[in-house]
Amino acid sequence: MSRLKKPKALSLLLVTVVTLAGYLSVRSMAPGLGAAAQSPGPKYIFIFLADGAGITGMETTRMFNRVVHNEGLNIPDKIIKQGSLGLITVHPADSLTTDSAAAATAMASGCKAKIGALGICADGRVPKTVMEIGKEKGMRIGLVTTAAIYDASPAAFTGHVSDRKFFSLIVDQYLRVAPDLLLGGGRDQFLPQGRPGSSRKDDKDMIAAFAKKGYTYVSDRSELSRAKGSKLLGLFTLQEMSFELDRDKDKEPSLSEMTETAIRFLEAGNQRGFMVFIENENTDAAGHMTDVASVIQAYREFDRAVGLAYAFYRKHPRETLILATSDHDTGGLGFTLALEEPSSRRAKRVDATEADFKKIVSIGISLKKAAEILGPDPTSEAVDRLMSDHFKGFTLAPDLKKMLLNKQLPGRNIYTDPVANALGMMIANNTQAYWGASGHTSQPVLVAALGPGSELFRGYQDNTDFAKHLFTLLRDKNSE
Ligand SMILES: [Zn+2]
Repeated sequence: MSRLKKPKALSLLLVTVVTLAGYLSVRSMAPGLGAAAQSPGPKYIFIFLADGAGITGMETTRMFNRVVHNEGLNIPDKIIKQGSLGLITVHPADSLTTDSAAAATAMASGCKAKIGALGICADGRVPKTVMEIGKEKGMRIGLVTTAAIYDASPAAFTGHVSDRKFFSLIVDQYLRVAPDLLLGGGRDQFLPQGRPGSSRKDDKDMIAAFAKKGYTYVSDRSELSRAKGSKLLGLFTLQEMSFELDRDKDKEPSLSEMTETAIRFLEAGNQRGFMVFIENENTDAAGHMTDVASVIQAYREFDRAVGLAYAFYRKHPRETLILATSDHDTGGLGFTLALEEPSSRRAKRVDATEADFKKIVSIGISLKKAAEILGPDPTSEAVDRLMSDHFKGFTLAPDLKKMLLNKQLPGRNIYTDPVANALGMMIANNTQAYWGASGHTSQPVLVAALGPGSELFRGYQDNTDFAKHLFTLLRDKNSE
């Protein structure tokens, strides 16, 4: 009994500690009642999405930058270090692994969706997206991507269609919602049928329709740099834009150049701020190709774009929220301990080292481009020529060469492009940068957040929470 008796001062201290702990835990459990409610929601919101680039996408690029360029990376070094870090789950309503449509719907609308659905919840609800609410609050809104502009991730931030493949319908919805800025690829769905490059099944000239609504239209890098006006439509390729390694730098702008223009356009002449979605799709496309060099170059470019938002944040720190995240991981990339020979217990173990990054940096083309060079029926001579022209110092094991020529890969993994995926295995054999799959995985993805409201995104959460926090911050804008 005597052990339960405490001196009066100690009891008082305990009561104080318990009360304080209770107060803190209530605050942390109810983010909407925390800092966000005490200050108006952020005036400027950046949503950066590295499609298909999970935690390993960032970490591989961080190590590459340090080893090869003696440089840091903005996302871990600035956004996370000065802001916060969260993880979000990625699963959709009907699977353990998501596609970009269901993931972006969760992150833009706050509900679980079925694979393929855009802006429509699994229970049939069609809630307004964070961007539609932002627009109602008077914010300027913009979508920037290296994918076709009608691709699932950007489309889910303003569009609502039951199937992400309804591309022309998505473009028609863009015209109705009228985001202030649209930059990316995908001109094919803006041209009337019969026009070279068109993929539409009707006679609508959507470029003319946007121009009629007051949009300036640009189609290459130099036009983009000179663009003026209050609304901007930039379509730089017929479908998706090029991998960073293959990009014609005179014609196609980079993601950071598009980001620079987006900031300039959206900031101009508006007191209510802006919300912009900026995506690098090529991190996902390169992941499907099991192309480590292209993933790194795409993520480096993504991080450069985040760096521009960080410079903007430094000018407006109390009004700018930066979120840098992903929708899912693609490929399960990682450096691993491998064997020198396949399936041999006596084979020597090969460890990944920094020298492997030096091999990766010597690769000057994407595996998509390499597959195009080889053509649909690669010959043995063409494969040898490709290896000596573009993969100096790499060896193509005989078994892998055979698989490449037969376009036959082992297992039941879904291979996106058997030629590119065989070359991906070749690079893995030479660098220990192995892929678990060529499809999406169920790994959680990171959310790096900096600025007012960033604390809401801290911790381990669901991907629908991402939208819910933005709704909270936008609701707070009402009380301004
Ligand atoms: Zn994908």
